[in-house]
Amino acid sequence: MVSHCNLLITTPFILQPIKSPRPTFLTTTPKSLTLICKVEPKPTSARPQKKTTMDVPDKPSRRNARKSSYGTSRRSILKKTFSQEQVSFTAPVSDDPIVAIIGGGMSGLVCALNLEKRGIRSTVFDTGLHGLGGRMGTRIIDPQPLIFDHAAQFFTVSDPRFAELVDGWSDKGLVRQWLGTIGALELGGRFVPLPSSPPRYVGINGMRPLADSILSQTSMVNVVRPCWISKLEPFNGMWHLLENGKPRGQFDALVIAHNGKCANRLLAQSGLPLIAKQMKRLELSSIWALLAAFENPLPLPANTDGFPFEGAFVKGIDSVSWMADNTKKLMTSQSSGPHCWTIFSTAAFGKRNKVPQESIPTATAEKVKEAMLEGVETALGLSKGSLERPFYTRLQLWGAALPTNTPGTPCIFDPYGRAGICGDWLLGSSLEAAALSGMALANHIADYFESGGARSDEFAVGLHNEFQLLEGHDIGQFPGLESKEQINKVAGEAEQTIEDTVVAKEVFRFVL
Ligand SMILES: Cc1cc2nc3c(=O)[nH]c(=O)nc-3n(C[C@H](O)[C@H](O)[C@H](O)COP(=O)(O)OP(=O)(O)OC[C@H]3O[C@@H](n4cnc5c(N)ncnc54)[C@H](O)[C@@H]3O)c2cc1C
Repeated sequence: MVSHCNLLITTPFILQPIKSPRPTFLTTTPKSLTLICKVEPKPTSARPQKKTTMDVPDKPSRRNARKSSYGTSRRSILKKTFSQEQVSFTAPVSDDPIVAIIGGGMSGLVCALNLEKRGIRSTVFDTGLHGLGGRMGTRIIDPQPLIFDHAAQFFTVSDPRFAELVDGWSDKGLVRQWLGTIGALELGGRFVPLPSSPPRYVGINGMRPLADSILSQTSMVNVVRPCWISKLEPFNGMWHLLENGKPRGQFDALVIAHNGKCANRLLAQSGLPLIAKQMKRLELSSIWALLAAFENPLPLPANTDGFPFEGAFVKGIDSVSWMADNTKKLMTSQSSGPHCWTIFSTAAFGKRNKVPQESIPTATAEKVKEAMLEGVETALGLSKGSLERPFYTRLQLWGAALPTNTPGTPCIFDPYGRAGICGDWLLGSSLEAAALSGMALANHIADYFESGGARSDEFAVGLHNEFQLLEGHDIGQFPGLESKEQINKVAGEAEQTIEDTVVAKEVFRFVL
């Protein structure tokens, strides 16, 4: 790789300044970037050798520790975000570039797959302890086993490019159409089925295997997991990634395929102010997820054909917005055994009961769990205290659950910093949106590499887009059901159709 910055030489682990102590990342400041370059940079490479970028940070003193915790406050992150100087890589792009993708959810993995289709290698870093997939996680509890999709529940397909991916999964027996009844459940147990079109799809063994399947389609993608990338450093013409001070490799370009507080922290001092600014504008809801296994089937209202529902958008109850029976959805042949339900709160309830998701106080967990179980009871029209107690529960807070606004661009790319963003929020809030965003960014980066990196201006995308409010249900966007109001409307129409059918049947009987 040819370096843009001739100030440094590298050994595998030690980076040394050899000439000027102050490298110039920005050789030609593009007009659009001059405004944000307010603060003189203090690149780590300009520091004395013992404090080079690849060194483990000094152990903080108590005073420093206070400072550093202050340093991650929202105010501090905002300040850093807006005052950092833009990095600009000016050296020609390598003939065999490698891209770092931070985030192994749908968007990051699809990005890796599509980079490979264009002949580009990548490394995907993901924090997942149990596996890849991010918000398309599935939890299996042995030995019974109990199975729960604990974020994405089902998906719809509207774009032919996503349809191609889904067809591939279908051919491998990984997905199928979810034919169970889904509807709107109103307080008191009134259930109105929703139309089965457009088709809804589920992972046959849950959503997570889809992530593994994307990876299995690749041979040029390296995965590092579990790994929490905590620092990005532009250095010697490359992006250097670190996990708590430990070097995790150097790359020609960066993809940020995650969002929320973690991404804001990572970008706050990265030298990518435009990208950081767009990320900072993203707003996310918080949603509680309760996984609950019951010995017996819940007493559910049935649809007109007499089948109890398998999934319901719950209306009029603060603590529950969605409930689905994973056993019916995923274990279709199982006639007995435990019943595994995924129950989501509303975003409003999530916001009111928000706590740090990494350390949920026991009292909060208990309060939230009870409120959600009560919500289920009320939704089903059961008398107080009569809902069977689940024999297994697990509560999780999705602190950065779903986007509530969007810049409405398939991806964001900063050609000067050779860094981009993909994720569901750029186009909406669904698995399909995430996949399309990953594809878009991969193709954009491949086009940029093919151009040799010389005409950077042409490749800037999404850096200044205004954000719009995102319509959708609390758990995402589904064609035909773009908002809660639409669910009410569609449910209303479905109800009318049912009533008409009943009246028609009555008239028919009367005429006969
Ligand atoms: C409660 C809930 C219900 C949902 N239901 C549906 C549904 O039914 N249908 C639907 O289509 N969509 C649904 N969604 C939305 C869907 O899950 C998301 O749109 C999609 O999974 C987003 O994929 P992504 O790749 O953009 O992000 P993510 O899946 O969030 O992936 C980001 C990954 O990056 C990792 N990461 C973060 N920081 C770092 C770091 N510093 N270093 C390394 N790795 C890092 C994370 O661990 C994660 O694995 C739901 C979401 C939630 C929260």
